Amino acid sequence: EQPLLSVEDLTVTFPTKRGPVRAVDSLSFTVHRGQTLGIVGESGSGKSVTSLAVMGLHTGAEVTGSIALDGRELTGLPERELGRLRGRRMAMIFQDPLSSLHPYYTVGEQIAEHHRVHFGSRRAAARKRAVEMLGEVGIPEPARRVGEYPHQFSGGMRQRVMIAMALACEPELLIADEPTTALDVTVQAQILELIARLQEERGLAVVMITHDLGVVARVARDVLVMYGGRAAEQAPVDALFAGPAHPYTRGLLDSLPRLDDTDDAPLRAIPGSPPSLLTPSPGCAFAPRCPRAAAASTDEQGRCEGTRPELVPSNGHLVACHLSLHTAAHARGGTR
Ligand code: SF4
Ligand code: MG
Repeated sequence: EQPLLSVEDLTVTFPTKRGPVRAVDSLSFTVHRGQTLGIVGESGSGKSVTSLAVMGLHTGAEVTGSIALDGRELTGLPERELGRLRGRRMAMIFQDPLSSLHPYYTVGEQIAEHHRVHFGSRRAAARKRAVEMLGEVGIPEPARRVGEYPHQFSGGMRQRVMIAMALACEPELLIADEPTTALDVTVQAQILELIARLQEERGLAVVMITHDLGVVARVARDVLVMYGGRAAEQAPVDALFAGPAHPYTRGLLDSLPRLDDTDDAPLRAIPGSPPSLLTPSPGCAFAPRCPRAAAASTDEQGRCEGTRPELVPSNGHLVACHLSLHTAAHARGGTR
C-alpha cells in the first residue's frame, strides 16, 4: 500500500544574517492511513519545522528533498495549489489555539467559513456542519456554543474547537504540533483520547509532534526521535520503550516521570544544551552530551566527534549511532 505521506531526504535551510541554518537535515519517514507517527525531540530539534514544511508553510526557507501526499509531490507546488490541499486533505493544529482562532468571529463562523471555502457550501449548510463538528469533538450544547467567541471557551474546549475546524473538511492527514502542551494533565489526557478516537473513526493519519515521550506512548504506534535536525532513532513505540538503541532516546526515557515515583524525586533532565545548527559538528550532534560517548574509548570518541552516524537498521529499529545501545546490550548478553 502506498503511504499517505512520504517524506524523503527532506532538508530545510533558513538563510540568516550569520549564515544558513539547517533546521532539518536529510529526514525521511512515511505515514500510512490510520497510522499515528509520533515525532519527538527538544525545541530546536527540527520537529516543528518538519511539520510546517509538510504543510507548505516554511516561509523563507529553502526546502529540498521530496514530500509526497498520496503520491503527489508537494515541494514546488504553487501556493494556490497548496492552499487547496491545506484543510481539504491535510490539516494542522497547534499548541495555542488562540493564535489560530480569530477573536472577533464566533467559532461557528470560523468553522463554517473554512467549509465554505473548500466546498462552496451554502451558509446554512456550513453552519449545520459547524454544529455537527462541535458535537463530534465533545463540546456540550453545540447548537448554543456555535455562536460564541473563542475567549468564551476554556483552553481545553478551545483545542476541541481547533480540532473541529481542522477536521471539518475531512482531511486524511492531521498534523498536531504540541496540541496538549499548554493544558493541564487531566485535560491533556482528554484531548489525546479525542484525537485517538477521531483517528480510529475516520481512519485519519496523524503526525503527533511533541517533546514528551509520554504523549507518544498514549497515541502513537511508531516514533521518530529527532535531534539537531536529524533522525536519531525510529521504532515502533513498544520496542522503543522496551529497549532504546540511541543514547539520546535513553535520556528522554530516563527523564519521564515514573508511576512508581512515590516521593518528589526530581526529574532527570538530559544535561547540556541542544546543538548549534549554525555551526554543526562534522560528527554526531549529540556527542557533547552523550554519556555513552563519554564512557567510550578515545578511538570511539574520535569517531563520534568526527564522523556523522548514518541511520541504519538495528534489531527492528533504525538508529543513527556509532555505539548503539543494542550493540552494547548484546555484548553484555542482555537487553538493558
Ligand atoms: Fe553518542 Fe557517539 Fe552514538 Fe552520537 S554516535 S549518540 S556521540 S555514542
Ligand atoms: Mg515547536
